[in-house]
Amino acid sequence: MGSRCGVRNFFCLAIVLLSSFSVFGANGPTVALSVDASEAPRKIFHTQLRIPAKPGTLTLHYPKWIPGEHGPTGPITDLTGLKFTASGKTLKWRRDLLDAFTFHVEVPAGENEVVANLDYASPALYEPGYSAGMSATEKLYIVNWNTLLLYPAGYSSDQLTYSASLRLPAGWKFGTSLHVSNQVGKDNEIHFAPVSLTMLVDGPVITGEYLKVVPLTQPSQDPPAELDVAADSPAALDAPEELWEHYRNLVKQAGILFGARHYTDYHFLLTLSDHVAHFGLEHHESNDSRVDERSLVEEDGRKLVAGLLPHEYVHSWNGKYRRPADLATPDYEQPMQTDLLWVYEGLTSYLGDLLAARSGERTAALARDALAQIAADLDHRSGRVWRNLQDTADGVPSMQTAPHAWEEYRRPLDYYDEDVLNWLWVDVIIRQQSKGAKSLDDFCKLFYGPPGGPPMVKTYTFDDVVNTLNQVASYDWRGFWTERLSNHSPGAPLGGVEGSGWKLVYDEAPSGLDRAQDRDGKMIHAHYSVGLLDGGDGVIRDTVEGMLAAKAGIGPGMKIVAVNGRRFSPDVWHDAIRAAKTSPSPIELIVENADYFRVVKMDYDGGEKYPHLVRDESKPDLLTEIYRAK
Ligand SMILES: [Zn+2]
Repeated sequence: MGSRCGVRNFFCLAIVLLSSFSVFGANGPTVALSVDASEAPRKIFHTQLRIPAKPGTLTLHYPKWIPGEHGPTGPITDLTGLKFTASGKTLKWRRDLLDAFTFHVEVPAGENEVVANLDYASPALYEPGYSAGMSATEKLYIVNWNTLLLYPAGYSSDQLTYSASLRLPAGWKFGTSLHVSNQVGKDNEIHFAPVSLTMLVDGPVITGEYLKVVPLTQPSQDPPAELDVAADSPAALDAPEELWEHYRNLVKQAGILFGARHYTDYHFLLTLSDHVAHFGLEHHESNDSRVDERSLVEEDGRKLVAGLLPHEYVHSWNGKYRRPADLATPDYEQPMQTDLLWVYEGLTSYLGDLLAARSGERTAALARDALAQIAADLDHRSGRVWRNLQDTADGVPSMQTAPHAWEEYRRPLDYYDEDVLNWLWVDVIIRQQSKGAKSLDDFCKLFYGPPGGPPMVKTYTFDDVVNTLNQVASYDWRGFWTERLSNHSPGAPLGGVEGSGWKLVYDEAPSGLDRAQDRDGKMIHAHYSVGLLDGGDGVIRDTVEGMLAAKAGIGPGMKIVAVNGRRFSPDVWHDAIRAAKTSPSPIELIVENADYFRVVKMDYDGGEKYPHLVRDESKPDLLTEIYRAK
């Protein structure tokens, strides 16, 4: 997932240059942080911080640019109950007039510590956002420390030490990559070993009444890895044993791919709930991933979430250990620059899909279904006429929460999916150039591999990527990536798919993945037939510029009321598209638009269209080799 450097630009630059290898170690003050989450089901959290201070003005920041979220997404609107005292006396404070995330506190003569109290009133209903989204239910809560604290200005997050404690509702259990110093039994208060602010924010805590711990490594194996799953019901934790085996394979296959690990103890923190925000967020030693409650116990659910945990796990190497230099900011106040997200997210997406297949989480057929959908979606992206791939990365800090209406033409976060196609192309070129001797696996070992050890950040630039690719196989990589990032070609970049021995085709039979999505029942995907995406309730979420629906005058926000004279339903829609293939009449829709009704005719005879990859026997099958367990 995304992030930015501001008032102290010089400071930021200096830190980045000095810390192309940065190891987290503190030489600044220690802040004591107590979080009371005992009211988690009410979604309100109480924090007290004890912050060393000197008489004069103490400037404090609330975290704004959250690592991995690629934007200024700290939930400042939910920070409430703010109060500062020293020796029991209330202190005057004022918010910065240019930055709502910054507070100035007046510290009287003779005082050396400020006590800050704050409440985090977390979202109770759906709001877009990652760690700032809904995070608590009746039965569970995911602690993201950045939502619950302030930090003093003038230090990098590596320099500050936080000594944190957390009080949970009675009987709740927890999982985290943070080390526990001692746990008090009666009031369920956990004390964590002091860590840098960087590593505290890197260590979310999953908590809940129903929590299952699945070891993913043997007891003798170092470093260890485990899966901590919290759910809204005990039944949701009852996944088939083979699923846990796939995640054990994932840890093993990632070790083989990269040749080293950059953590001391890894925790997959997986939340199963229909009442929290759904996303995955990466950290050095854990990931915070959240999906529907029944995702693991139903076969369709497992198909739909496959790929998420491999993606977030790959980020421990790509994004956390190796990080674009202009994303590696010293604190949470400095803006991040997102131009290299085509490596940070794009390559992670490619490698996550690759590991989903190599671990068995996805069969090779399901992995191809997912790749076919990516290729087909990108092949119908009308926005590429005005916006190149590089701009989808550059613009994300301000655009990631854009609405779904007009998404096709605005062009969404294509540096994820389009770079799955581009990195596949790179993998294929390496294999061709080296006559099968080398692959992208060799790049992974050089760029992300030994020596392993505790978390650290090693930054990189565009040149570093190109130079390492050339170490693996000599090619015009600078020219390749410059063209891929800047072109305005009409279709998806399919050189990798085709070079790997497969072709993108469309037919009327939905793939296994299409069927799972259809049964999920939330959307009608008619992208590739008439260029329309419908919410399943008739409300049109988006249309593709230049395709039939848009040409007929349909746009996002309108509602399909009837199809060929019958009230709209997903079944009525699918029947009409299928029948259009042999019917001489156009499809007739009644469309509602802002209280007006209109009849729209679409002259379509193509039938339903679902994307697939089919084998091209004239070429060697590299894709199957790429997906094969090593
Ligand atoms: Zn990601």
